[in-house]
Amino acid sequence: MDFSQVLHQKTNTIVEQWVTAVFDDQHIEATNELTFKEVRNSLPRVLQALATVLSESEVSDLQTVVEASLEHGKIRAEQGFEPAEIAREYRLLRFVIFSVLEEDLVQASASDTLRAVRLIDTIIDEAIARCFNSYTQGRLSELEQLKGQLQLTNQELTRLVRTSRDNLSQLAHELKTPLTSIIGYADLFLRQQQNQNKLKSAQPNLENIEQVLRSGRLLLRLINDTLEISRYNAGQMTVQPIAVKVPELLQTAIEMIHPLVKSKDLALTMNCDRAPQEVWTDPLRVQQILTNLLSNAIRYTVQGSVHLECWQVSDHQWALAVSDSGIGIAATDQARIFAPYVRVETITMSPETKASEGTGLGLAIVDQLVNLMQGEIKVESKLGQGSIFTVYLPINSKTTDLASL
Ligand code: ADP
Repeated sequence: MDFSQVLHQKTNTIVEQWVTAVFDDQHIEATNELTFKEVRNSLPRVLQALATVLSESEVSDLQTVVEASLEHGKIRAEQGFEPAEIAREYRLLRFVIFSVLEEDLVQASASDTLRAVRLIDTIIDEAIARCFNSYTQGRLSELEQLKGQLQLTNQELTRLVRTSRDNLSQLAHELKTPLTSIIGYADLFLRQQQNQNKLKSAQPNLENIEQVLRSGRLLLRLINDTLEISRYNAGQMTVQPIAVKVPELLQTAIEMIHPLVKSKDLALTMNCDRAPQEVWTDPLRVQQILTNLLSNAIRYTVQGSVHLECWQVSDHQWALAVSDSGIGIAATDQARIFAPYVRVETITMSPETKASEGTGLGLAIVDQLVNLMQGEIKVESKLGQGSIFTVYLPINSKTTDLASL
């Protein structure tokens, strides 16, 4: 019996039953966003190719199936299918083909049936492998492109930020949305890849995705920081004080920053024994100051400790100090590090710290926030020994915006 003829005749029935099964399968969530036609899309080609190969006696002529499956994988990648969902749809395809052909298979001779079953199985396995291959390649080349684009955007944005402040905040706003989605998408893909044992061959390329994520995150941080600076320059930054429990506030800041020390040989400690219990301040602004100072202390310290100390200075003032045993800052650089886009590179910096992604905006933001809160910031530091950044703040901050300063 010529099963290729049967398969050709029954292609439409198989496709309709298969698409329905794919839609009904609760585990294939990618179809939620797609129409019947979109899911149907490339399948008839895979089936035609399968029927053609079935009519030959040699399994080796798989070129048509290969091409059709590569195309299928590409389409599924574009449609947002996960590898596990593609595997499921091929399992359903196998099931539908055999149930539609069942009648004909039982009528054929045992050897014809066996040959057909074996061929169909081999071809579907080959189709799955090819489909996965093009799916992975499609995703990786897309990420590769994104990486290039991000790097260009990053350079362009840095140049723009430096040369012109006109329309900057609008530009930064427009860049934020696509960037957030690039980062989310790359992150998701990375997690999927790590979970997919089947795609082990793609592992070396994961470095590219990590690179995309790093560039994307840095760019996003640059944009957020730039927005913050331009808000300050436009006089739009405000302080909204409320009654704040100091120990809780400091504890939250330490918890937020804790993941950064995990990968390092660093002790992160805090002492708030002499801290005022309650102050009247803007907790979000104090968090911003603390997380910037603490993350710098961690980034610029290879080993040793980072410590947060808080105390009441007088009836009107309290202080926060972030100290580290890191690379330190030369006396000549200590004044200029508070200016936007200033980064100091020293010979004592480890390659790891040198490569660490910074924007040169963190301390500028801290300085502006402290100024806005009518406080003061001081730095004491010795090259190779460490640094202490101390922030003095009023115990009773007033509602301020820049116009009132
Ligand atoms: P970024 O850290 O993103 O480069 P910042 O404005 O936060 O930008 O810091 C400016 C520069 O000040 C840094 O590039 C670094 O050279 C120096 N710096 C800041 N904090 C520390 C620290 N705790 N120890 C040593 N150097 C520091």
